[in-house]
Amino acid sequence: MSLDNKNSELKLRGIPVSEGVSRGRVVVLNRHRIVPAKTSFETLNPEAEEARFLAALDKTRQQILEIQKRLHDKIGAKQSLIFDAHLLVLEDPAVLEEVNRKIREEKLSSEYALYNATEKYAEALSAVDDSYLSERAADIRDVIQRVLGNLTGQSKQYGLKDLTEPCIIVANDLTPSDTANLDSEKVLGFITEIGSKTSHTAILARSLQIPAVLGLGKDIHELKAGQSILLDGFNGFVVISPSDQLLFEYGQLVKRQNTIETSLQKIRTEPAKTLDNHSITLSANIERATDVQAVLKSGATGVGLFRTEFLFINRTDLPDEEEQFQSYKKVSEALNPEPVIIRTLDLGGDKLLSHVNVSAEMNPFLGWRAIRLCLQEKDLFRTQLRAILRASAFGNLKIMYPMISGIDELDEANNLLEECQQELRVKGEKFSEKIEIGVMIETPSAAMISDKLAKRVHFFSIGTNDLIQYALAVDRLNEKIAHLYEPTHPGILRLIKTTVDAGKENGIWTGVCGEMASDLSMVPLLIGLGVEELSVASSMVPRVKMLIRNINVTQAKELADFALSSDSPKEILRRAKKLSREAVPNFFETKED
Ligand code: PEP
Ligand code: MG
Repeated sequence: MSLDNKNSELKLRGIPVSEGVSRGRVVVLNRHRIVPAKTSFETLNPEAEEARFLAALDKTRQQILEIQKRLHDKIGAKQSLIFDAHLLVLEDPAVLEEVNRKIREEKLSSEYALYNATEKYAEALSAVDDSYLSERAADIRDVIQRVLGNLTGQSKQYGLKDLTEPCIIVANDLTPSDTANLDSEKVLGFITEIGSKTSHTAILARSLQIPAVLGLGKDIHELKAGQSILLDGFNGFVVISPSDQLLFEYGQLVKRQNTIETSLQKIRTEPAKTLDNHSITLSANIERATDVQAVLKSGATGVGLFRTEFLFINRTDLPDEEEQFQSYKKVSEALNPEPVIIRTLDLGGDKLLSHVNVSAEMNPFLGWRAIRLCLQEKDLFRTQLRAILRASAFGNLKIMYPMISGIDELDEANNLLEECQQELRVKGEKFSEKIEIGVMIETPSAAMISDKLAKRVHFFSIGTNDLIQYALAVDRLNEKIAHLYEPTHPGILRLIKTTVDAGKENGIWTGVCGEMASDLSMVPLLIGLGVEELSVASSMVPRVKMLIRNINVTQAKELADFALSSDSPKEILRRAKKLSREAVPNFFETKED
């Protein structure tokens, strides 16, 4: 594909994380906190400034009432009440009096007067070690930012909910909860300054099938609101003011991709079996119960990973047992008799609850996350376990614990599960007595003790996204070190092999549900290492299946043998790609390397 930099066309490069091409106008999300400078004006007209301030308050009030109404219609009265606290801040007589005094007597701009008058309260509240008071500080800051946005004219850029027409979002970063909330009708694609392929933001982009390029770095500042751009989520390019010639070439590429998609429909119900008759279980990863439709369409054999934490984020309360039960039951029934592996809560890291005040951690991925959090917040965990158990009466559910790093954690989780089972028995509630339990292998320690773990569980699922970051000490979110995040590092391959072998020796299967399983270049290598199940985004199921159907397990084993004896990640990658490319050449035409 040719690119013409001579005209006004300018090409930027980032990390391709979600396939597809989109074309549209840029909307820049400005998430930076507005901190007004201290400016006093001798010539300031206090009446006019007060009137400007009152108008901004009024506008903010209207905006909040609108949000409240929207929330009320969408999720009910209880959730929308949180915004009452915001409205109260706008009406607080002490604050209003102080702002007016600062404008009149000190001739300060209303932005600074407001910021100064409220920030000290927010600071004092957040300094107290009390989650209720910290939440009030967050409320104050949130509503004040909204007023400041209205005063400074930046409010248009404030929120994702304000999008009125289809566009491409440009942002410093999008959190997983922002991404989960994206309206795929309005968001044609998104681009961020930071971020990487295995961040949950990237995983969600693939699941929502929104083309995305992350980790553009400072180049992102070339992108301005209103510009017309082309986003190439296959190769990680962003082109400003694309020429007609380039648009034509991309049009052709999209057509070819659509043809491939149509041809993949033909193998939807065919088995994921290699040319030499070796069967692989190909399942799908989901984030929400509604994703089940995509799973059914994809031709996957059930769900290999249900990331249940997405039920918990983006809301102002916790889902209770009944709500969780309904959600797990829906997936379980829809896919019955195929298996559905429900992963227990993996909160923490980059997935946080918006309404529970978790104090900032120096290393969130090494911190209060997943099973560690659940074993301390036992009520939260028990509620989820009971909901899963009850849903197990309606299909083929399995339970999987995330981030296990030692035997004690597994035993403790299983003890709690047993308590919940006992509770349900006493109450006469139905559940499957034969429910299978698995662990994710995503810490190096879990892989190293997989022989011990295997004696206590029914299956392993390797979470390569985390396993790679923990084993190589490479933050999975940091684009600056993305080149060091190497799935083909011999250290990683040995950890996978150790796990698979321990599983086989103990008669249990091992799958991979991390993004390595969706990477077409890695599929033969994983199969050669003995992995028996692959769980990938629904959108990737047909391609992975086609690839499996075009390789020989003998060749895959030869590749794995070479990889286990090699000391070069790059050479392993080269050979792995070659094998996949030979099997399905047209899947690779969009990749430059
Ligand atoms: C993994 O770590 O590979 C995994 C599947 O879990 P998550 O991406 O949700 O951390
Ligand atoms: Mg993980």
